[in-house]
Amino acid sequence: MMITMEMNRVITFVKRPIGKPEKENFEFKEEEYPRIKNGEILLKTKYVSVDPYLRGRMKDADSFIEPFKLNEPLISMIIAEVVESKNDDYKNGEYIRGMLSWKQFQSHSGDGINKLMITDKDIPLSAYLGVLGLTGLTAYLALKKIGTPKKGETLLVSGAAGAVGSIAGQIGKLNGCRVVGIAGSDEKINHLIQDFGFDAGINYKSSKDMHREISEKCPNGVDIYFDNVGGEILDTVMQHINEFARIVNCGAISNYNKESVPKGMRLEGIFNEKRAKMQGFSVLDHTDEFTEAVEQLSEWIQENKLQYDETIRKGFDTIPSAFIEIFEGKNTGKMLVEI
Ligand code: NAP
Repeated sequence: MMITMEMNRVITFVKRPIGKPEKENFEFKEEEYPRIKNGEILLKTKYVSVDPYLRGRMKDADSFIEPFKLNEPLISMIIAEVVESKNDDYKNGEYIRGMLSWKQFQSHSGDGINKLMITDKDIPLSAYLGVLGLTGLTAYLALKKIGTPKKGETLLVSGAAGAVGSIAGQIGKLNGCRVVGIAGSDEKINHLIQDFGFDAGINYKSSKDMHREISEKCPNGVDIYFDNVGGEILDTVMQHINEFARIVNCGAISNYNKESVPKGMRLEGIFNEKRAKMQGFSVLDHTDEFTEAVEQLSEWIQENKLQYDETIRKGFDTIPSAFIEIFEGKNTGKMLVEI
C-alpha cells in the first residue's frame, strides 16, 4: 500500500515471541488518519518508552497486567502533543503522558492520561519518560521502601547501567552507601564509575569469577542488593549478603525470554541464616508518593547531584528494534524512541 500523508501508521502485535522478541512479532500497518469527535483530542506521538516489562505482556499468561492481544496495536508509556482539541480540558500544543498505542496519531477521550507539568525548561521532554517518569520513580521508591539505605552500607545494583539501575545506584551514593554496579560491558562500568560516582563495577559478561569479584568489590559484604536481572546473578550475589540484608526484587530481565521458569539454587537457608529480606516491588503500588518523589528527583537533577542517560532511537519505524535492543544490552540509561 502507498503511504500518503493521510494514512496513519500503526504497529500491531502479530506473533507471540518464543524466546527473544524478533521483528516478525510486529507488523507495520496503515489506517485512516483519525478524526476526533466532540470531547476528544488528537494526539501526535513524540516519545515512546520501550521497557522490559512489555515482554511479559507478550506472553499469553495471567500477570499483574493483561496480555497484549494479537493483531492489536502495542501500548506503552508515550509523550504526545495535543494537535487538535474538542475537549475543554486540553489545548493545542500541550504535552501529555499516558499509556497509548504505538500509532503516529491517535484520538483520545483525555481520561487516564496526564498533562505534563514542565517546571524546568532545562530538563528535556524525554526525561519525563525516564528519570522523571516511571524509571526514576521505580529507582527512588524501591530503594526507599525496600532497600532502606543507610550511610556506610554496601549497595550492589544489577542492570546498573540501565534506566532504573543507574538512578538507583546514584541514589545509593546520595544516601552515603558504597555502591557497586553489575553491567554487561567495560564501557558501561567505566561510565558508571567516572561519570555517575559508582565506587566499583563488575562486567558480568567477561567476569571469569563473579564470586571473587563481588568479594573484592564489596569487601564488607552486601547490605542491599537492588536486583533488576534475577537468575544466576541473583544466586551468586545471595552468597555475599550480610545479616539483615535487603534484596529489592525490582525485575528479572534474565528470565523474561525463557519459556519455563529456570531452576536455581535453594535460597531459604541463606535467608534464614542472614535474617535477610527479599521483597517484590511494583511502582504502581505507590502512586500516592509520585509527586514527592518527582520533586526530589528534579531537585537532585537541578543541583547536579543526579545524572541520567538516555539512548534515543529516531523514527517511528525503530520502535520494535529499540525494544529488542534492550535484551541485547544496547542501551545505556533509558531506551526511548523519538518520533
Ligand atoms: P534497562 O536496565 O534500561 O534495560 C535492560 C538492561 O538489562 C539491558 O541494557 C542489559 O544491560 C540488561 N540485560 C538484558 N538482558 C540481560 C540478561 N539476560 N542478564 C543480565 N542483564 C541483562 O531496563 P529498565 O527499564 O531500567 O528495567 C530494569 C529492570 O527493572 C527490568 O527487570 C524491569 O522489568 C524492571 N522494572 C521494574 C519496575 C517495577 O515497578 N518493579 C519498573 C520499571 C522497571 P547489560 O549491558 O548490563 O546486559
